[in-house]
Amino acid sequence: MTVNYKPGRHFLQIPGPTNVPEGVIRAMAQPVIDHRGPSFPDLTKGILEKLKPVFNTTSQIFIYPSSGTGGWECALLNVLSPGDKVLAFETGHFATLWKKIAEQLDLNVLWIPGDWRHGADPSLLEEKLGEDSKHEIKAVLVVHNETSTGVTSRIPKLREAIDTVKHPALFMVDTVSSLACSEFKHDAWGVDVTVSASQKGLMLPPGLSFNAASEKALEKSKNSKSKHSYWHWDAMMEDNARGYFPYTPGTNLLYGLDEALNLLHAEGMNNVIARHARLSEATRIAVAGWGLENLCMNPEEYSNSLTAVMVPEGYDADALRKIILERFNMSLGTGLGKLKGVVFRIGHLGDFNELMLAGTLSGVEMGLSLANIPHKKGGVDAAMEFLAAQ
Ligand SMILES: *Cc1c(COP(=O)(O)O)cnc(C)c1O
Repeated sequence: MTVNYKPGRHFLQIPGPTNVPEGVIRAMAQPVIDHRGPSFPDLTKGILEKLKPVFNTTSQIFIYPSSGTGGWECALLNVLSPGDKVLAFETGHFATLWKKIAEQLDLNVLWIPGDWRHGADPSLLEEKLGEDSKHEIKAVLVVHNETSTGVTSRIPKLREAIDTVKHPALFMVDTVSSLACSEFKHDAWGVDVTVSASQKGLMLPPGLSFNAASEKALEKSKNSKSKHSYWHWDAMMEDNARGYFPYTPGTNLLYGLDEALNLLHAEGMNNVIARHARLSEATRIAVAGWGLENLCMNPEEYSNSLTAVMVPEGYDADALRKIILERFNMSLGTGLGKLKGVVFRIGHLGDFNELMLAGTLSGVEMGLSLANIPHKKGGVDAAMEFLAAQ
């Protein structure tokens, strides 16, 4: 007989989509309203205001009914033209996907290879931009938190590198899995286009993507020769100013977004980031306690959002994940691309706290035993000791 009811809560510990708070689920369960009616502008305008301190910008933020991938495409189409040269770093699977989109849009990608264990290298950026005396490179593309590897690139250092050589390229950053998890300052860090999505740190189901655009990016968008329609910032800006959208928005996801933003601000953005830092450190302490290796090699680039844990050679991370799912009803992230079977990823982002982390780490430690993966005991104990001392 197949067991088709698993009592207790499923542990969704993949690094996105993340757990959605009950208040957000309830907010989304409201009846749909007329998106051209008189009460819609209050919702739109409220959301756009509450988003600003999350991106740390006073500039324009766009909301699209799409996955994060749409947000990538939207950003490229609005500010670049076919044939434009862009520089991008191979930090992992997501950076590679963004590059592929750029190529499909006929952009000319200068690809900086990487080992998937480090973030984008500021000195390499300075060197490459320094060589580009004719300013042919129109944009630099960086994934802030590489969700496939658990490595967070240092955006302020990369900005510094661009400024050192006084290069005018637009700075475009994917914050899909870092927004509301790690510190991020669109304005102060001189980011021109920030791409994000709903289903990671923002604690919503998938279905919304975001672009935040600097004045410089808005200016550039006037001269873009890329063909596009759905993604036009212009039309969005015009309608948003009155509290509306150029086409039907994801009404109920917007209800959810409004509530998720209320929750983030009630906790306080600084506290949200500090909580992610604390829980991610506890996770790394557990991993070290097990004697396993963190894929991320540079402590300055440890991710607040997830930890990618390497299994010893000859062992299969997916076999471990399967045992943990079947025995303990917990989903962990699989290894993506060339990391398949090599790592499992523990998501510790979004609506998440100490006891959820303790449960998550306990599931991993029990799974390691059941999968006969060589490891030391006591990882969970060490993490609990750390958390209790905070
Ligand atoms: C999840 C994710 C995306 C995009 O995802 P969609 O599946 O299109 O929503 C993009 N970049 C990063 C870094 C991500 O983690």
